[in-house]
Amino acid sequence: MDRSRVLILGGSTEGSALARALADDAVWQALLSLAGRTRAPVLPPGVAVRIGGFGGAEGLADWLLAERIAAVINATHPFAARMSANAVAGAALAGVRLLRVLRPPWLPVAGDDWRCVPDMDQAAAALGRSPRRVLLTIGQKDLAAFRAAPQHCYLIRSVDPPPPDSLPPDATIITARGPFAVGAEIALLHDHRIDIVVTKNAGGAATQAKLAAARALARPVVMVARPAAADGACVADVAAALAWLHAGTATPRGV
Ligand code: NAP
Repeated sequence: MDRSRVLILGGSTEGSALARALADDAVWQALLSLAGRTRAPVLPPGVAVRIGGFGGAEGLADWLLAERIAAVINATHPFAARMSANAVAGAALAGVRLLRVLRPPWLPVAGDDWRCVPDMDQAAAALGRSPRRVLLTIGQKDLAAFRAAPQHCYLIRSVDPPPPDSLPPDATIITARGPFAVGAEIALLHDHRIDIVVTKNAGGAATQAKLAAARALARPVVMVARPAAADGACVADVAAALAWLHAGTATPRGV
């Protein structure tokens, strides 16, 4: 019997882990979708991968119907707000069940000095007027906001080099892909004489070590809050997503 098809909207640790977990599944055939932002994505073996946008919610709906997709799992990054909204609208248009996998946000612990802000413009403003040495770990998309705070010296870490025209004037780039260890993060902050760290509240273990490093060195962290979560069913991890698929919540098409 043909397996039923599940589309995984990926670009996150959870998306890749879910695809790997379903590689040999007897019931579900996984198809992993990536936006195509990362130059050399790490692809899970044994799973079909498609790359590139669908053309909005309607494009996604058409694609789901054409590909006879029976369920969608949105495992995009917690800050991928547009794709998440499109997933809700597209799955509804196509009549396909949808689940969101959304890892819990980080929470401050004793010893943390977080300044929580709603967006990147506020993050740039929170750095203050006096020049500071800033570790910026927010990906590549939103760097332009920091051009409004050119007095600071930025160390920018991202998976791929960011577009040069998005950079503030005093910027040094490090390309690196997590997971990162606490010891190495402490060394990074120390060696670059970092005064303050800016990050998105991505959650998860892979990039959490910078928070422990900031705590250890008594450095403040500007923490950018997540966008509002899209509507619909949501679980916190891959195990719960697999349980949802296999519990029959997402009834395979034609069964
Ligand atoms: P976004 O703003 O929510 O989405 C922008 C557009 O990119 C979407 O409308 C869609 O294009 C396309 N897209 C996004 N994710 C896709 C996927 N998995 N498969 C196919 N098309 C996708 O997304 P973003 O914040 O730019 O993130 C892009 C990708 O990078 C996502 O897969 C996300 O998981 C990953 N990522 C994002 C962040 C972050 O901080 N935002 C961090 C790490 C990884 P169409 O409208 O044409 O369908």
